[in-house]
Amino acid sequence: MGITAVFPGTFDPIHYGHIDIANRGAAIFDKVIVAVYDRPLKNLLFSPEERLSLVRAVFQDHPKIEVTGYSGLTVKFCESLGAQVILRGLRVFSDFEHEFRMALANHRLSPDVEVVALVTREQHTFLSSTTVREIASLDGDVSSMVPPVVGEALARRFHELGGDGQNVVQMTALRD
Ligand code: ADP
Repeated sequence: MGITAVFPGTFDPIHYGHIDIANRGAAIFDKVIVAVYDRPLKNLLFSPEERLSLVRAVFQDHPKIEVTGYSGLTVKFCESLGAQVILRGLRVFSDFEHEFRMALANHRLSPDVEVVALVTREQHTFLSSTTVREIASLDGDVSSMVPPVVGEALARRFHELGGDGQNVVQMTALRD
């Protein structure tokens, strides 16, 4: 029996940092299931269906990567699939503390599921969905950060929202 890894995330939206982790996971494990959290819509730019369909579009031709939505505890979802590994990506030190805490909690809940975290590639260190949303909301060029299908979805979404979508996108410091 092969090893299946679940790569869980919000993917609001998916970007090249996520894609790199999923592809590198697929080079290690027999199967990677990219699992999109079905979270409350609050503070999210895209609906669960939209996030899922963008992730599906990105990986549609990858033979070892499947895409699915899920809700509830990640370890329960892994157990229901017989997946042995939770795959995560690590960018900066602030990710580490969060991932460390989550990994310990998940391990307490389900000792048979291992958390494997891959360190990001240098060129993706700064990349986050938050940054992508903010740049796109201000009509900046995100073509080096997300695949074309995601760039188009961002443009469409901000067009729907009108203006720069201020009520949905949290601004940090890229504006001034
Ligand atoms: P979550 O809400 O669970 O953090 P995300 O969709 O933001 O969901 O991220 C899913 C996973 O992808 C997390 O493990 C996160 O650390 C990782 N990730 C996000 N951005 C990058 C990046 N630029 N490089 C590597 N891993 C990343």
